[in-house]
Amino acid sequence: MSHVGIVGGGIVGLCSAYYLHKAGHQVTLFDQAPIADGCSFGNAGMIVPSHIIPLAQPGMIAKGMRWMLKSTSPFYVKPRLNADLMRWGWLFYRHSTPAHVERSIPVLRDLSLLSKSLFQDLAANGDLAFEWKERGLLMLYKTPSAEHEMAEEADVANRSNVEARVLNGQQVQDLEPHTRVDVRGGVWYPGDAHVNPGELVRSLVAYLTKNGVTILENHTVTGFGKTGAHVTSVQTAEGSFPVDAVVVAGGAWSPTISRLLGLNLSMQGGKGYSFMLRNVANNVQVPAIMLEARATATPMGGDLRFAGTLEVAGTDMTINMNRVRGIVQSINNYYPEIKVDMPAVDTVWRGLRPCSPDGLPYIGHTHKFDNVVLATGHGMMGLSLGPATGKLVSEAVGDKVSSMDIKAFSPDRF
Ligand SMILES: Cc1cc2nc3c(=O)[nH]c(=O)nc-3n(C[C@H](O)[C@H](O)[C@H](O)COP(=O)(O)OP(=O)(O)OC[C@H]3O[C@@H](n4cnc5c(N)ncnc54)[C@H](O)[C@@H]3O)c2cc1C
Repeated sequence: MSHVGIVGGGIVGLCSAYYLHKAGHQVTLFDQAPIADGCSFGNAGMIVPSHIIPLAQPGMIAKGMRWMLKSTSPFYVKPRLNADLMRWGWLFYRHSTPAHVERSIPVLRDLSLLSKSLFQDLAANGDLAFEWKERGLLMLYKTPSAEHEMAEEADVANRSNVEARVLNGQQVQDLEPHTRVDVRGGVWYPGDAHVNPGELVRSLVAYLTKNGVTILENHTVTGFGKTGAHVTSVQTAEGSFPVDAVVVAGGAWSPTISRLLGLNLSMQGGKGYSFMLRNVANNVQVPAIMLEARATATPMGGDLRFAGTLEVAGTDMTINMNRVRGIVQSINNYYPEIKVDMPAVDTVWRGLRPCSPDGLPYIGHTHKFDNVVLATGHGMMGLSLGPATGKLVSEAVGDKVSSMDIKAFSPDRF
């Protein structure tokens, strides 16, 4: 049995701890903050095998430029003269090609499908207590241009064996019996699912703690002890912890952590916001992305969570209420009967999506060390891909045969 130190207690670190523990390793997980505070806690809760097209895709740059001009728009890059941002932007630009999209679709699909099957197992095997709903995902649109774009995406999905059904306004309404939906149409991905991420994270923490995994909250990792190409310890202000292997799962902070290992990981935090409407009488039934607004609606029990915006802002965690206003203002365009007021700032949650420049995660060993595995960069899909990543991490740490080919996710690929 080896002792594995995991840096980061988001969904990726927690799932890695789960599968490493199952594989018989002793695990210590470090987080700089209380775990219930991170990016994995207040997100939209969607499990999205439908998302097979990476963020870096043709047309994304032009779209981003248009959106950047409006303070309530869903996408924003905070202008900074910063070498990391410039390198990230250059790599993003270089990967916004049809060839990259074509290469990425099968690997993202396989990773997503692996994760979904692991979610189904986690929901049924009795280790965890969280609600798992398979009602699919609706991509809702109001404009002909979004309809055109979505029809193309649905076609790509169907050709890649991910089921997508193009619906007209009435067919969308038929899926939503309790509240009116005012849209031109939508694409329904019946294979998608949803969870309450906070409930899942809490349940994972409870299971891991009960089963002997050490979780050290408020322990910022500040360095690593090394002998040649081998990491020997994890260092924090509270002391040094000897380990046999290390997993870096620090979300948007992973570049800072990686720098402590001499690695230059390209990543930007993509800040997004969410807030919850409590006890909604006639609740939405199927999670949805309101396409033109780039905002989401996810039912969680009797509540309804709205989320959205992507501000490329490093690791800045301040809340910009203008962006939140953009989400609020868009909701009634799609769901005219849902009463929603501007939330108070202290009820708004924000998180940093760890965005790699090519839209693929980093999963696997780095050539610089024989016992360091990276698991980060999942962008908008970290919750969805958490279980598959955790499983692949446990296989990489244990030098076991991998459940899938992870070459495309190599942390050394740029
Ligand atoms: C608004 C919004 C909606 C989203 N909706 C969805 C969705 O519907 N479906 C989906 O799949 N994904 C969604 N995401 C994305 C998803 O939330 C992220 O991809 C995911 O949470 C990333 O998980 P992680 O474990 O990599 O990082 P995190 O959850 O950020 O965890 C990283 C942890 O590392 C810790 N850390 C950092 N530095 C150190 C250090 N030096 N020492 C110790 N600890 C450290 C941090 O405190 C943090 O807890 C959404 C994100 C946002 C913002």
